[in-house]
Amino acid sequence: MVCGHDRTGGGWLTACRVLVVACAAAAAGTSSAAGYRTANFLVDAPTETLARRIGDAAEQYRHTLAVEWTGRPLPRWSRPCPIRAQVAPHLGAGGATSFVFDKGEVFNWSMTIQGSEERILDSVLPHEITHTVFASHFRRPLPRWADEGACTTVEHPVERARQHRLLIEFLTTGRGIAFPEMFAMREYPPDVLPLYSQGYSLARYLIERGGRHKYVAFVGDGLAADDWKGALAKHYGVGDVAQLQYVWLDWVRQGCPAPPAAVAAAVPPAAAWTATSRGQSPDPEPVAAPPAVAATSGRRSIYAMQARRTAAEPPVAPR
Ligand SMILES: [Zn+2]
Repeated sequence: MVCGHDRTGGGWLTACRVLVVACAAAAAGTSSAAGYRTANFLVDAPTETLARRIGDAAEQYRHTLAVEWTGRPLPRWSRPCPIRAQVAPHLGAGGATSFVFDKGEVFNWSMTIQGSEERILDSVLPHEITHTVFASHFRRPLPRWADEGACTTVEHPVERARQHRLLIEFLTTGRGIAFPEMFAMREYPPDVLPLYSQGYSLARYLIERGGRHKYVAFVGDGLAADDWKGALAKHYGVGDVAQLQYVWLDWVRQGCPAPPAAVAAAVPPAAAWTATSRGQSPDPEPVAAPPAVAATSGRRSIYAMQARRTAAEPPVAPR
């Protein structure tokens, strides 16, 4: 379901969610056949048209998303990033981007992406390009939740809604990750999907309260001194990681309401970076009830414990 992730030889690999892979690549007969070169990408895709669409979209995302997250475009890379694309209508969406950090530099980019053309253009590509923006900006590994979570916020609303549904499932079945543990993760955990959905939800929560530039500044400060408590206090007025978990979980339980108008008004509007594909729209209405309590989880769950303290209804037995 999710491809492997590894960090070897100084390389850094982001292995982004590949759902429903199911041998689809072989079944779809998606051998790459055409190449297309842009200033920063070298695309290998099944047809010339697809290679061109993907390459042009990658350049556009690279510019727009860099401005969106960091306030300035990326300088041209010394060597283009190869993109190997497998494209087929029913191919599960996913991707992986690898690169090398060395002495404050980042290079040796390589990206593989797969999925339907539509989903590659509106979700996989912006997700993977955001990884390259962060790697170029921070020049060091990020906590996985902050990296994957933020990258998921630029995906299509359908994908983001799916992450929210999964989040509710994980929180109610004992698969949530305690924030102190999540903030310390530099590698993907064995149970990786909760990291994605929870990272996405927390990134969304923070971005809705301060915008993307502040999110990047917060991550930068947290990384610089490995002081997430200080970074949270400085940028979001939250006392520490445990308090953040509490307020975030309460927000999820309420159905992820929009922030107060005074807070929202101070957040810079997001750029329309998806001109290549379907239009973006705000996050959809919550698709599931606030987390109930998994009454008999086999695992100790800090979420279940918190929910139990505040739940209006008594825990229900699993069906
Ligand atoms: Zn990713």
